[in-house]
Amino acid sequence: MASILLVPIRPLQPASLSALALRLSERFQLPVVADGSHHLDPAPAFDSSRNQYYSSLLLSALLRMFSRHEGKILAVTDADLYIPVLTYVFGEAQLDGKAAIVSSRRLDERFYGLPGNADLFENRLLKEAVHELGHTFGLVHCRQYDCVMHSSTAVEEIDLKSSEFCTDCARLLKRTNNETATEI
Ligand SMILES: [Zn+2]
Ligand SMILES: [Zn+2]
Repeated sequence: MASILLVPIRPLQPASLSALALRLSERFQLPVVADGSHHLDPAPAFDSSRNQYYSSLLLSALLRMFSRHEGKILAVTDADLYIPVLTYVFGEAQLDGKAAIVSSRRLDERFYGLPGNADLFENRLLKEAVHELGHTFGLVHCRQYDCVMHSSTAVEEIDLKSSEFCTDCARLLKRTNNETATEI
């Protein structure tokens, strides 16, 4: 049976991960299984000049490590992610593929020098996790400002959208094909 494999890279707060698993399971109507016992080493993806991790390399490492998993794979990390053309990314996914990754680093108010806000953090993490997984199910960016598939380049934009799919995206969600383009 298809499932979503949740793969923490570097420890996150266990509470936020189990809450995330529960909410993702409701959203996608799939079992979500966390695998905290893997030994995926993020070090090869680290760029010391940027002090960030190259998310595409982490996606490749995930695919190699979990090649036998038949469902989707979502890595969650507190590492700051980038792709070469952008200063940072909140996450990256294979469009209509298998793997996605989200970073919690810039979702935390404390990153911006503000007091921590656990509810806001969990909501942002859920939105970005749903968004990147949505890409793996073949969904592209949506123009509806409050749809979870709306593109967010700053954290304020994440706060403007909901964690829900709009009706059009919800309808498209179950369509799948095997293209392997990448969406961020
Ligand atoms: Zn939409
Ligand atoms: Zn996107």
